[in-house]
Amino acid sequence: MEGILVSTFRCNAKCHMCNVWMYPTDPKQELDIKYYKRLPNLEFLNITGGEPFLREELEEIVAIVKPKMKRICISTNGFYTDKVIKLAKRFPDIGIRISLEGLPAANDELRGLKDGFDHGIRTLLQLKRMGMKDIGFGCTVSDRNARDVLELYELAKHLKVEFATAIVHNAYYFHKFDNAVEKKQEVSESFRELIQELFKTRRPKNWYRAYFNHGIINYVNGGARLLPCEMGSDIFLVDPWGEIYPCNVLKESMGNIKDSDFDTIWNSDKAKAIKEKARNCGMNCWMIGSVSPEIKKRKLSILKWILRNKKSYSDYECALNPSVMHNPDLVIPECMATPPGVDPAAPAEK
Ligand code: SF4
Repeated sequence: MEGILVSTFRCNAKCHMCNVWMYPTDPKQELDIKYYKRLPNLEFLNITGGEPFLREELEEIVAIVKPKMKRICISTNGFYTDKVIKLAKRFPDIGIRISLEGLPAANDELRGLKDGFDHGIRTLLQLKRMGMKDIGFGCTVSDRNARDVLELYELAKHLKVEFATAIVHNAYYFHKFDNAVEKKQEVSESFRELIQELFKTRRPKNWYRAYFNHGIINYVNGGARLLPCEMGSDIFLVDPWGEIYPCNVLKESMGNIKDSDFDTIWNSDKAKAIKEKARNCGMNCWMIGSVSPEIKKRKLSILKWILRNKKSYSDYECALNPSVMHNPDLVIPECMATPPGVDPAAPAEK
């Protein structure tokens, strides 16, 4: 199982694709850190916000949850360099991802954060100098920054840090319901170029990322989700007040961690009903939190997709044809030769 811990809804940025900053949590009402002891042992925990480094007790929270987690990664805009470095010195084996939405001008405009790029990159360079291994940056792509994706990837490659992508989504969590990709072709083209670059590397991790990015092209063009979503079954989200949700899109709380232990909430009838609802939600979200566990379960099938596409990635045109995605009877021969996804009905691999 994996988890997402939303430490606070306070944020120092004003991102164009997220309105969290308009609805900050009252620090006095944020979950008392003693309740984080109730979280279960997990394969992976993503600590996020808002801006998690605004949570005064962040270090204590990491100290509490770290023994239970195989891997922890904090998502931050990297603005508070000193705080990030202090925490990284204490926990050098955690992961840190710094959100950058483009090169300096684009980043600072899209994040509404003056000198945000400078701070973010300085933080990343300092972490790198410290010898931290699990570091990198992440970019949420929209119409406004699609052209910067390749440059950011090149920057990450030269710095020898990870580069993660996302595409704008709507969710209660972001207080945003009008995010949309209008320039489908331009955005798809940027991702196609990125996929080709990822395939050129010798890192299998990058090839699986190519598959994830392929799913983004599919998502942008209205295709059905390429893999099942097990949010609410394999993954949960705990918000700054302690409510346990299946994901950041379905606003259905299974219960509050202040009221009982995690197992009681997780195995309750209410939780079962919400899990069922999540399984049949009909949403086509394609966010790394919900996709990564499904990729891990189907590594072999996706490897076959990688081998089919590595030399010449060509599903792009198929993904751009919405009729192919919506109506299986209309599948055109080229797409049959290189199916856009892995059969969602196929059982998970051991
Ligand atoms: S597809 Fe459904 S369950 Fe999965 S993240 Fe989206 S809303 Fe949640």
